[in-house]
Amino acid sequence: MTVQYRFIAPRLDDPRLLQDRRYSMLIDGRSVPAQSGETINRESPAHPGHIVGAIPKGSRADAEAAIAAARKAFDHGPWPKMTGGERARIMRRVADLIEANIEELATIEALEVGKAINQARGEMGFSATLWHYAAGHAQGLEGETHNDMGANTLGLVLREPAGVVGIITPWNFPLLIGSERIPWAIGAGCTVVIKPSEFTSGSTIRLAELAREAGLPDGVLNVVTGYGADVGQIFAEHPDVDMVTFTGSQRVGRIIGAIAGQNIKRVGLELGGKGPQVVFADADLDAAAAKISGGAFHCSGQVCIAGSRLIVHESVADKLLEKVEALAARIVTGDPLDDSSTVGALIHKAHLEKVSGYVAAGKADGAQIYSGGTILGEGGAFYAPTIFTGVKPDMSIAREEIFGPVLASFRFKDPEEAIRLANDTPFGLSACVWSSNLSTALQAIRRIKAGRTWINGMGDGTPQMPIGGYKQSGIGRELGRHGFDEYSELKNVHITLADSLAQ
Ligand code: NAD
Repeated sequence: MTVQYRFIAPRLDDPRLLQDRRYSMLIDGRSVPAQSGETINRESPAHPGHIVGAIPKGSRADAEAAIAAARKAFDHGPWPKMTGGERARIMRRVADLIEANIEELATIEALEVGKAINQARGEMGFSATLWHYAAGHAQGLEGETHNDMGANTLGLVLREPAGVVGIITPWNFPLLIGSERIPWAIGAGCTVVIKPSEFTSGSTIRLAELAREAGLPDGVLNVVTGYGADVGQIFAEHPDVDMVTFTGSQRVGRIIGAIAGQNIKRVGLELGGKGPQVVFADADLDAAAAKISGGAFHCSGQVCIAGSRLIVHESVADKLLEKVEALAARIVTGDPLDDSSTVGALIHKAHLEKVSGYVAAGKADGAQIYSGGTILGEGGAFYAPTIFTGVKPDMSIAREEIFGPVLASFRFKDPEEAIRLANDTPFGLSACVWSSNLSTALQAIRRIKAGRTWINGMGDGTPQMPIGGYKQSGIGRELGRHGFDEYSELKNVHITLADSLAQ
């Protein structure tokens, strides 16, 4: 299908693009450069040749200094000893400061990630909500008592903070993913060292500066920047880090998990996905099409929970594809700083080539391009929303996480086939089911192996429900009440009581 995609060419004279942005790491409450003095320049993926941030190129020595600061703050600082209420008060101030600085934070992410600024504003607002929610729970984290162990015994289960937590985050949602981890870790009384992606470190550094402004004690939240193997891997290796939590690719997740395993260290992994969107014949096709288009093409498909596999009943497949395509054609791709853009750029040129390579492989394997399949604009890393039909389960476009705006569509005849296709993946991060019969939808969702699911919806997030992956999409759960368990040690205390009331 030939579609004229809407594209806004990036403006090169936008003052926000031309502003000089240099960042420091934050270690023990102080803003510091890398010990080597070296920096990494981030080039905007939408504005070739324009540097939109310079971050310190940290080394092992910088990471060790940050770990030492977090260790000191945990072992000797006030944070783990504060009441939950005192911690919550500071965390709420962080939330307020995020809200007060949405425009600055969103601009940084639009420039570094290449995402549309309107989308970024929404994510910053949601990040503040996450801090507020975690603050509320930080005030009331509880243990257990056991009163049924005999007349002279009482049991306590104490919830204690896990210690120093090393957090490694990916480039696609730096502030949002940081805000899904940090408030739960520090809310539980832990201290943190975080390493954001080398491509998109600006907003995490600003978050830590805002937390310092909010009154977070020195050393509770430290940021080291640089490349993963130089400053991230050490979190899994170092004995002074009690837990490492990694969000990113399966490839690096395996490395972190293996090292943490060797060191018998707590580990949380939030990895990739290849989310199915299963549409039964009785679904509301207009509602489904809107969310399927959003689920596949939001942020140019660079979303771990992207619904990148459409599995639709054969009787409604043609009608649904037409609707999805019509909506995809209305997506406005282009200048991340323009309020009218709905989708920005891919993260960098190498990723654009990777996405193009997958599309070429899909064609070579015999799938048909229904629409899209082209680079948009000139010079930047923009790709058109792309839909494949005739996809077979063994093709790379069906099995691998493309992390681009590419939707692979399948048709099914009966529910068993739909569920088999949905589960035919090593991933298990997310899934959607569309049906106007709630029993059909619930029975299907119960049989799909995924940690984050939607019925007649896609992508909605809330702080109160846990997130995380089945199968090779990860280990552990974040958010909600369960999220605090990740960062807590449970200690049991058997108390033997004297029979001192006996006459
Ligand atoms: P990536 O794995 O390349 O990098 C993630 C982070 O790990 C970066 O900070 C990077 O510098 C660091 N890193 C790289 N090598 C390392 C090493 N040897 N030791 C320690 N750290 C290292 O992933 P990415 O390209 O930044 O992000 C895309 C991936 O993230 C996709 O697979 C996506 O599905 C996944 N993701 C998952 C979730 C989730 O919640 N499950 C959320 C967002 C993204």
